[in-house]
Amino acid sequence: MLIIKDFEQFQKVRANIDGRVGFIPTMGALHRGHLSLIKKSKIENDFTIVSIFVNPTQFLEGEDLDKYPRKEEADITICEKIGVDILFMPTINSIYFEDELKISAPAKAGYVLEGAKRPGHFDGVLQIVMKLFNIVRPDRAYFGKKDAQQLILIQKMVHDMFIPVKIIPCNTIREHDGLAMSSRNIYLSPKERQKALSISKALKRAGKMIMSGIKDTKTLKEEMISILQKDIKIEYVEIVNRSLEPIDKIIEDDTIILVAGKVGETRLIDNIWI
Ligand code: AMP
Repeated sequence: MLIIKDFEQFQKVRANIDGRVGFIPTMGALHRGHLSLIKKSKIENDFTIVSIFVNPTQFLEGEDLDKYPRKEEADITICEKIGVDILFMPTINSIYFEDELKISAPAKAGYVLEGAKRPGHFDGVLQIVMKLFNIVRPDRAYFGKKDAQQLILIQKMVHDMFIPVKIIPCNTIREHDGLAMSSRNIYLSPKERQKALSISKALKRAGKMIMSGIKDTKTLKEEMISILQKDIKIEYVEIVNRSLEPIDKIIEDDTIILVAGKVGETRLIDNIWI
């Protein structure tokens, strides 16, 4: 596995790659969720490139940029073991510049849900993903449905800006008890981790209610809130279509149910796609 830390070296190596390139951008502290994306890329492409970069522009003032988990050594070992071809770990100065051009998230879809709670977050996400796409020039890029809004906005950016890359959505990987895997789960104390399970429980319950024929989103949200409220400081429970607009009735294959909330100091998000 090649480990590359600067853009120029990456460009030289990239110029000599023949065949299909699959790309998985990450912020490191790799877990089984990330690994599922990497494995999928390895099956579907000739070459798999992973990036690890804790992107400062997507963290808002007061968020956990400084204490975001960093596990460089362990991540390198994991990538090597699983058969990543290139691990790109750029330094901040090699890809961000003075007074640089900015990408803006769309005014509607970028400012609901996560974008309403974290205004400007998706500007930073799209900025870095655009840069990474231009550097890596992948044929396919793999993103988790766990970050539903991020995935949808990246699909929109690729569509709106005619970027020649195919976005591959990947299912959310969970712990045995249902908790969605996340680099931030390590912040949870054992007690908080127990409480955090309410999120996947509420989503699962909503899924079951829909299977039993309940389509009214108000009823579904009320039931979810009743499960969540004792354990989670709820930020939102929303039921939206794939354009992230709220809906009154569940539409098969066009619905996402999302939850965001805090357990102690740790902010968690999760969702299911119907
Ligand atoms: P991150 O390192 O958190 O920026 O995540 C990198 C990529 O992994 C993103 O596309 C995430 O959506 C995806 N990802 C994170 N957690 C999971 C999970 N539990 N299951 C599947 N994909 C995930």
